[in-house]
Amino acid sequence: MTDTTQKVALVTGASRGIGRAIALKLAEDGFAVVVNYAGNAQLAEQVVAEIETNGGRGTALQADIGDAASVARLFDQVLEAFGRLDVVVNNAGVMQMAKISSDNVEVLDQMLNTNLRGSWLVMAKAAETLSNGGRIIALSSSVLAKSFPTYGAYIASKAGVEGLVKVLANEMRGREITVNAVAPGPVATELFFEGKSDEQIASITAMAPLERLGQPEEIAAAVAFLAGPQGSWINGQILRANGGFA
Ligand code: NDP
Repeated sequence: MTDTTQKVALVTGASRGIGRAIALKLAEDGFAVVVNYAGNAQLAEQVVAEIETNGGRGTALQADIGDAASVARLFDQVLEAFGRLDVVVNNAGVMQMAKISSDNVEVLDQMLNTNLRGSWLVMAKAAETLSNGGRIIALSSSVLAKSFPTYGAYIASKAGVEGLVKVLANEMRGREITVNAVAPGPVATELFFEGKSDEQIASITAMAPLERLGQPEEIAAAVAFLAGPQGSWINGQILRANGGFA
């Protein structure tokens, strides 16, 4: 029979990077963890294996967060496997650089589809599924404050996410469900390194007064705080975990 006494967390985009670190941390904190991924089944299974080696419980489930049917199936599978859901972390995201030009509107469509539409779909299902005391946590980005050239589509998508977080926190009135976002500064993952020259990496790394990139585990710690008992009074907030990159 399914054990329904253990709290359950769903982490989207948990096959690598920040999502992987969040999944491992929440498992360490006692959650059974659903490791969602888009295409990298092997990496997701490795995260589950690591959770199990550490004495935890987890499962890997494929879903494209930008696709409504896929997200609905994901939540059904979570309930089927674990019988409950307590924490939803919508971490999955993509980043592509492009100037705001007529030629680049497909980049905007792609960013909005995964980062904003995906957040809408996952947060909506979380709102429908979580019981009282649940936590919804989205991933934004501290780059909103920088307005760097070529970040238009990405920043637009994440600004939208921050808007959704605050509205959903209000819509959860009476449900004892908190809704927050963590907005990392630059973190050492594939998403950050891809397409950047060594000079660009060095320049962005030096921007925060702490003069280094964040590590995925440092973002996972902020998410775990919001997901755990210590975060119970934090609601409708954007936690900028960024080493001072502001
Ligand atoms: P990575 O590129 O390292 O990992 C992205 C993860 O998202 C992968 O697990 C990938 O799955 C998954 N994913 C991508 N598209 C989809 C989709 N459509 N449906 C489901 N899963 C998907 O990214 P990071 O770990 O760096 O980023 C995680 C989050 O943090 C993102 O929302 C990002 O915007 C945000 N962030 C990151 C910063 C950084 O500097 N790294 C800074 C600020 C915010 P698969 O492996 O199967 O493709």
